[in-house]
Amino acid sequence: MDKNGEKLDLLDVYYCRSLFKSRFFKPAVNVIFVVVLLIIIYFGLSSAPDLRFHGGIPFATTMIWDIWHPLLIFTIIIFARLWCFACPIGAVGDWTQSVYSFKRKYPEKYRNLWVAVILFLLIFAGERHLFMFTRNPPNTAYLLLFFIGLAVAMAVVYEKRSFCRYICPIGLVLGVFSMLSAIELRSRSRKTCTDHDIKECVIGNEAGKACPVGEFPQTMERNNYCIMCMECVKSCSQDNVRISPRLPGADIVKSNKKHLDEAYLIHSIIVIFLFVMGMERLQFRNVIINFVKSTLPYNSITFLDLYWRNMWAIIIFSLITLGAAGLMYLSIASFRGKGTKQKFIELSYAFIPLSLAVYLAENMFSLLKGLFFIAGKIGGFFGQVWDFAVGFDTINQMQIALLFAGFIFSIWAGYRISSNNGKELQKNMTAVGIVAVVYLFIGVKILTLPIV
Ligand code: SF4
Ligand code: SF4
Repeated sequence: MDKNGEKLDLLDVYYCRSLFKSRFFKPAVNVIFVVVLLIIIYFGLSSAPDLRFHGGIPFATTMIWDIWHPLLIFTIIIFARLWCFACPIGAVGDWTQSVYSFKRKYPEKYRNLWVAVILFLLIFAGERHLFMFTRNPPNTAYLLLFFIGLAVAMAVVYEKRSFCRYICPIGLVLGVFSMLSAIELRSRSRKTCTDHDIKECVIGNEAGKACPVGEFPQTMERNNYCIMCMECVKSCSQDNVRISPRLPGADIVKSNKKHLDEAYLIHSIIVIFLFVMGMERLQFRNVIINFVKSTLPYNSITFLDLYWRNMWAIIIFSLITLGAAGLMYLSIASFRGKGTKQKFIELSYAFIPLSLAVYLAENMFSLLKGLFFIAGKIGGFFGQVWDFAVGFDTINQMQIALLFAGFIFSIWAGYRISSNNGKELQKNMTAVGIVAVVYLFIGVKILTLPIV
């Protein structure tokens, strides 16, 4: 806050506001990223399929899984969904829409995140044995082409950024984690908005488009859906939109808008990534593989068999996610009969820090690999040799430390959410505590299994 009690506005730093207001800045950034995306797709399609056996070109997998992915996680923790500002896939959808679109309204009954949740489950369930995106450049390229096609198709049929708002699984995960981020985009003064007869941020004007995801800066209370496109910064003639630093995780406590699809996703992320970490451990993997093999009609590795195995992966993922969500639900229901579903939804948001911790822990190896790669390149630029490496044991300890940090942050978030209702504080905290301890116990148990 400054001396007048106003929140610090990062748009006032140097030329940020004029840069974001410029008609050329965003398209220029988008063009650069579209070119990079096309190069990645080209090299992906030109490569042999499996880097382990065929000596393909690792450019596409390195760019997407070792560089883009770690950077994305770090930008979300600090800058909310700022990636969406640059996203080439969203930009291609936008450009398509400006040429041709039926501009239909996205159907009311699908205005939720279930399609994105299902896509997220399908991609991760298929990763291990079917698609192997992280070591298969052509499949990485096909995945990118699939999302470009989907964004274009959605842009042709529906108005605004329906793909980004309801379908994109990356946006879905970014949205949930952006509740933890250290900045927020909001209106500077709610009174100015109330007094402003023409809500330019809602209807758009010459300077900027109407908000493409249907947000309204005056009433925004969480970061999830704002794709940081800066159209409201351009259109607001009152300069009443701000981007301010804040306490990380503020949305989890403050937001009154909580939804079942997001609650389910939060548990899904924890369970899926605990499961994936388990599959890196021989003992755990053997149990699952032996079970899946026992369901195969005969011993072969045809595509259909691989597909069948992955169907099991999807079923196992979905069932254990439902099981985890059910555990939470039951632990609340055992304390109170009324409003169980609503309480389940509200308290599930306390697990966002733990879900980010599990997500980071599972991706720790590739995150560090990507960061060391980037650091090495920066060092090289300055004529230095910056060669970093960490051993497996250190990574393992970092993963366990992350889980404990996520656990503590989640307990704190559960307390803050529950303390709004003093009478049920003890019951709510017991439910949050039981589920958090179960998640932590499973996570630590998996991480202390031998890796081979
Ligand atoms: S255009 Fe600006 S002042 Fe008007 S309602 Fe939108 S954010 Fe508020
Ligand atoms: S117009 Fe403003 S509120 Fe809407 S998505 Fe873009 S930056 Fe966020």
